Amino acid sequence: MSTILNAVTYPPTLTEEETTNLAIALRDWSLSHGLVIRAPTETNAADESSVHVPLTLHPSPFPKNLFDQARGLQTAFNELYAKVADDSEFLNRITEELAGVDEFMSDLWKLHLEVEEITEGVPAQPLTLGLFRSDYLLHTAPTAEPCIRQVELNTISASFGGLSSLVANCHKFLNKSGLYGVATGSELLKDESMPVNPAARGLAKGLGVAHNAYGVKGSIVLFVVQKFERNAFDQRWLEYYLLEDFGVVSVRASLEEIAESGKFDPITKELRYKGRHVAVVYYRAGYTPTDYTEPAAWEARKMMELSKAIKCPSLATHFAGAKKVQQVLVDELVLAKFVPDPDVRSQIRATFADILPLDDSDLGKKARKLIETCPEKYVLKPQREGGGNNVYREKIPGYLRELNDETLWRGYILMELIEPPQDVQNAIIRAGKVRKGNVISELGVFGCVLWDITTHEIKQNFEAGWLLRTKFADSEEGGVAAGFGSIDSVLLI
Ligand code: ADP
Ligand code: MG
Repeated sequence: MSTILNAVTYPPTLTEEETTNLAIALRDWSLSHGLVIRAPTETNAADESSVHVPLTLHPSPFPKNLFDQARGLQTAFNELYAKVADDSEFLNRITEELAGVDEFMSDLWKLHLEVEEITEGVPAQPLTLGLFRSDYLLHTAPTAEPCIRQVELNTISASFGGLSSLVANCHKFLNKSGLYGVATGSELLKDESMPVNPAARGLAKGLGVAHNAYGVKGSIVLFVVQKFERNAFDQRWLEYYLLEDFGVVSVRASLEEIAESGKFDPITKELRYKGRHVAVVYYRAGYTPTDYTEPAAWEARKMMELSKAIKCPSLATHFAGAKKVQQVLVDELVLAKFVPDPDVRSQIRATFADILPLDDSDLGKKARKLIETCPEKYVLKPQREGGGNNVYREKIPGYLRELNDETLWRGYILMELIEPPQDVQNAIIRAGKVRKGNVISELGVFGCVLWDITTHEIKQNFEAGWLLRTKFADSEEGGVAAGFGSIDSVLLI
């Protein structure tokens, strides 16, 4: 069995009464510190009430060396994806492969090309901002040491930075209060093994740095949000720190609202929202086709892309986060083009799982064989974000057969399943109810990068904290808002 705890009992066993006290303390700490999410409603109407975010009772163990490794790699990943986003020729080839099989990705790229044509290749704003998150699972092959394997890299709307910082503080508070008890395993819970998570301020810094670079006093950061966003408070924390640390005001609006009340001046290229000069557009919406049910949403996106506001992310940067791009980068020669330094390249590659295309190439043929012979080792992914889209293991062959038209297979990638350790337990509290079980944790490392797309010069590049999401081992996906997972903090071991 694959392990990381080496037979240490963790988390410490609590009596029923201790568990109840811990759950109450955790719930109340969350409610008093804004570690909350809007209550689910049946009608999707705006709801005034909020509830604590699904959380783990204890911080989950994570090997310190692998945690440091993931954080240490972030600036290299930031640079890699900035370079990918700048390489139109490369992204053009990717879109050709997805042409006719993935309408949403094709539409994004078409809009990018349309904007390039209108601006005659001279962008109104040479600076682009990326607030990325690179996600990892621990991989524990039976004979080798545990390692980190990248699940995906998000280039748009990477969430939970705001709330992550709070969870670390919450777990630290519970520990200092003595609520974790003294049973075996509690000796691992040292305050210094529970790192303070700078994600909320780190991401706000990314936005603040971009705002400074834009250089217009009194201009705002426009948060593009979904209409009935339940995870609004995660975003609010970035707004609060942006104001506190940089004196920058932000305004929230949906794509439809921007279509209605946004204005683009074709002469000055300024973007205004309700009359206010927009310096930075920060997308926390627009990553999924359902955000574009109204044609006005595409109009809004186009208007912003044409403007001289700094986009986080630009259409090209959004596109660079496609799972197809991740698959193509697994090829050493392709990666070498973007990461010429062999040392850095091998460090990046060491985190890659095998990912195969489902096209007519030799690799595609190999993938078809693998699906027939050992589907239980793979996950099938379409070009989508936001959770709940993947197809796992034995369900893959049947799912693909039902697509009928084999040409549609090209829209998917086939990824080797990562095998997380099986000896980690925790309890998750959701809507006040505690459930214990075996868990799997996914570490996301945030990164901020500001670069010039015309000179390819990187102006700022830093790691910006992390997210630990934890789900029960019997659940395939880890989405927190989608109801699969919880937010956690890191206990370094
Ligand atoms: P999304 O864009 O929907 O977040 P992901 O690629 O992150 O898509 O997949 C969603 C979830 O599925 C991940 O958070 C993880 O729990 C699980 N998952 C994805 N890829 C793998 C993999 N290769 N091995 C094991 N689990 C995976
Ligand atoms: Mg994901």
